[in-house]
Order: sequence, then C-alpha cells, then structure tokens
Amino acid sequence: GEVNRDATCLFCRIVAGEVPATVVAEDERTLAFLDINPASDGHALVVPKAHAADLGAADPEDVAATARAAQALGARMRERLGADGVNVLTAWGEAAWQTVFHLHWHVIPRYAGDEARD
Ligand code: 5GP
Ligand code: ZN
Repeated sequence: GEVNRDATCLFCRIVAGEVPATVVAEDERTLAFLDINPASDGHALVVPKAHAADLGAADPEDVAATARAAQALGARMRERLGADGVNVLTAWGEAAWQTVFHLHWHVIPRYAGDEARD
C-alpha cells in the first residue's frame, strides 16, 4: 500500500528499495534490516514503513507494530542465532544520540561473555 514518505529520509529510501539493505523481516507496516555498523553480529533496525521522525512523532499503530516486530525478531535471534539476550532500544532526539530521524528500534543480539556494551 501507499505510505507517507520523506524523499530526503534515508530509511524511507531503504523502505522504497532505493538504497540497498539486507532485509531480515517485513510485514505490512514494518521493515527490519541489518545495521550497517553493527554493535554485534545480527544487529538489526526495525522501522515503520510510514515516515515518522522519532518515537514521539509516530502513529501509535506504528509504535505497536514496530514493537511487535522487534519482539518477534528478538525471539528469532534467541532461537536461530543462539543469542542469550537482546537489547531493544530507540534513540529519541539528538541529545539521546539519535542520528537518523526516522523512528527505528535497534534489536541487538547479546551473548553471554560478550564484552561490547555500546
Ligand atoms: P541512531 O544513532 O539514530 O540510533 O541509529 C542509526 C543507525 O543507523 C546506526 O546504528 C547506523 O549504523 C545505522 N545506519 C546509518 N546509515 C545506514 C545505512 O545506510 N544503512 C543501514 N543499514 N544502516 C545505517
Ligand atoms: Zn523516513
């Protein structure tokens, strides 16, 4: 279907297929793809297909849909990647280190003994 998009937004361009990404999950409202600079193997980003600058600006239905998608992806990381835990987080605002202004949930598989904490 047709969704709101911002032609200058990197993640809208990924959703539209104009910028390549490794897609790991997709449904009607959401897309998940691997982070280009992963904090751990399998680090993915879940975004709503509709443009929203951040968590505050997003349609509540898209917040719910992306949270559900992050839950499912985290479960898959535990089952298929053998992750022992998963960080799920979103940066909301520049002061919180948001750098791409299209809502995205980081879904980061973690492994027992893994030293990286970023
Ligand atoms: P933020 O810092 O806004 O929370 O997260 C933005 C994330 O987007 C970063 O982890 C960064 O590595 C990732 N990223 C930036 N540009 C690209 C890109 O072109 N493709 C992909 N797959 N990820 C990107
Ligand atoms: Zn966008």
